Amino acid sequence: MKSFKLTRQEMDEIASRHPTPFMVLSLAKVEENYRFMRKHMPKAGIYYAMKANPEKAVLRKMAALGANFDVASGGEIEMLHELGIDASRMIYANTVKDFQGLETARRVGLRRFTFDDRTEIAKIAAYVPGADVLVRISVANDKALVDLNTKFGTHPEQALELLEAAKQAGLHPIGICFHVGSQSLSTAAYEEALLLCRGLFREAERRGMRLTDLDIGGGFPVPSADGLSVDLAQMMEAINRHAERLFPDVDVWCEPGRYMCGTAVNLVASVIGTKDRADSRWYILDEGIYGAFSGIMYDHWTYPLYCFGKGKKCRSTFAGPSCDGIDVLYKDVMAPRMEIGDRILVSDIGSYAGVSATRFNGFRIAPTLVYEEEVEQASAGLPADREAV
Ligand SMILES: *Cc1c(COP(=O)(O)O)cnc(C)c1O
Repeated sequence: MKSFKLTRQEMDEIASRHPTPFMVLSLAKVEENYRFMRKHMPKAGIYYAMKANPEKAVLRKMAALGANFDVASGGEIEMLHELGIDASRMIYANTVKDFQGLETARRVGLRRFTFDDRTEIAKIAAYVPGADVLVRISVANDKALVDLNTKFGTHPEQALELLEAAKQAGLHPIGICFHVGSQSLSTAAYEEALLLCRGLFREAERRGMRLTDLDIGGGFPVPSADGLSVDLAQMMEAINRHAERLFPDVDVWCEPGRYMCGTAVNLVASVIGTKDRADSRWYILDEGIYGAFSGIMYDHWTYPLYCFGKGKKCRSTFAGPSCDGIDVLYKDVMAPRMEIGDRILVSDIGSYAGVSATRFNGFRIAPTLVYEEEVEQASAGLPADREAV
């Protein structure tokens, strides 16, 4: 599957109507990603982890496609609620919840939660008595870009005790969840975790608890990232096969975040200044590490960069507009010589990027434009005699 990428002509056309920096989101690409996962992992229900990209257009699209949602705060619940998405389609999958989040969950009727410590049980029971709960276990995976098993998850040996304690507090233990870590390049990590859960489900049954749900979390990678080649179809099919074999009678679901929008967004920015240094030509862009490039910092990520200068290639360094020295984006890459006003395009920047942008130094947050709407507007703007072409 190819990432969404604007042509130069499309980029220039959109930039003639909107000042840079801006992001362009392809809803068709989001839909393609969703359908691809549906096709290769038919066993698993999809709960979109909205923290990866909570743009309203994305949420509406996911809702229309039939997805459910993984939420982590009162704010996220509220956003879905305002779009008319029912609480029965949400799982509150932040293992430690704040009181505002619990209150919002109670108000909208959200009844499914994950937890990974005894102290969380009384909190959930106080706000939503009888709620459905899943215990999160930590699993091993050294092939994930982002580790989610140090901060999260109880030791598997404690999992059943925790579910029993939840039951005693009047909650309804329904299952187990895990997350192998984000941008996981390992299928084996899922397979090992599934096996581990199979044992726990069996043991739960022996203790008189019939578990009905298994949540295998997110972690599905953006396949095009930085020299990687992950065969996503093969990965999803292997996970699906294992899940079907080990859990034929269990509701299995996953919580993809990064995968869903990662390849669906481009960023367009402009060169606002240059510095000729002995070892590298520097370009200062109108977007930086405190903006949409925040994923370089928070998400340990680099994004494919496309330059549209006309000049000969030379050693180049790209930096953001802020007054901070860490605001350097690409160091010593080969790029065609560019001048002030030239544009750059960055692809695969749809997840954990714009969402963590800040207003540091007073720069505005790059807006997200919807590609399909822009195309429509562009064609509407053409003279009538060219419309038929
Ligand atoms: C962040 C998160 C996800 C999404 O993870 P990705 O690696 O982006 O797919 C899923 N579930 C939980 C509980 C999360 O915290």
